[in-house]
Amino acid sequence: MADARPKPLEESLPVNEITLGNVTVARIEEMHGPIGMTPQQFFPTSPEDVWKQHRDVLVPDHLDAVDNIVQVAMQTWLLRSEGRTIVIDTGVGNDKTRPAVPAWDHLSLDYLGALAAAGVAPADVDLVVNTHLHVDHVGWNTRLVDGAWVPTFPNATYLMPRADVEFWNPANNANLTGGVNENVFEDSVAPVLAAGQVQVWEGSHAIDANLTLEAAPGHTPGSSVVRLASGTDRALFVGDLIHTPLQVFAPDHNSCFCEDAGQARTTRRALLGWAADQRALVLPAHLSGHGALEIERSGDAFAVSGWAPFPRY
Ligand SMILES: [Zn+2]
Repeated sequence: MADARPKPLEESLPVNEITLGNVTVARIEEMHGPIGMTPQQFFPTSPEDVWKQHRDVLVPDHLDAVDNIVQVAMQTWLLRSEGRTIVIDTGVGNDKTRPAVPAWDHLSLDYLGALAAAGVAPADVDLVVNTHLHVDHVGWNTRLVDGAWVPTFPNATYLMPRADVEFWNPANNANLTGGVNENVFEDSVAPVLAAGQVQVWEGSHAIDANLTLEAAPGHTPGSSVVRLASGTDRALFVGDLIHTPLQVFAPDHNSCFCEDAGQARTTRRALLGWAADQRALVLPAHLSGHGALEIERSGDAFAVSGWAPFPRY
């Protein structure tokens, strides 16, 4: 099965930025590496033999075979479309107090340096899209300045799904203490709301002629995807619809962070099916390795047909 390992979509040297129709897409890394969970901890219903079956594709970029630990990336997608600069998801962030996730507690990473290397200063960002309001998708929404949380992107409108703005507000949810989203609303969402920079949406929302936000509930109540259709190119920024190529091969296995298991499976199958039929590039928030992939139908599931030409990590 050595030949089964998908090849990069392009033979050229890896690039940090690709062009899809009239849109450029750059991968901005916050961090990457082992997430400290075994496949069965991260994806509790996934059997060991399914991971073994797809080992050629998963090791080493998505699974550390020595330690049996899942590999992920924390990345945001930087888009330029119709003259605007757009950031999709904002990682874990610096200086945040995260009692449930010690690895993310009081980080001090050079994410803004990575953005600067792509030619973007915080003031240049016009639009921030939070696909959902989990801790690792809203972190750089804010930064700590003189002891206060302020929006990192002072000129941006932040698009947030209404269902998540309501669900993750501690005033409406008594179960946040001790969980991964403890403190998150207070330090990464409320300050942006207070600054008047949030646009709440539901159902679907046209960003521009190339990009549309659409509800994709299940992982969280407000989880969403960004659909790109520009010229003949198609792409789908899927947030946490999948974390690993294993969920392409076996789309019924949720992560342990999915709120509604049945809805998450239904949404994943529907959107992966669209991506396969459209030959759309699929860009998850946490895919390690090449960061994005193309898929095709395979029986009643899917297979990886190629990787994006982004550098592997
Ligand atoms: Zn999530």
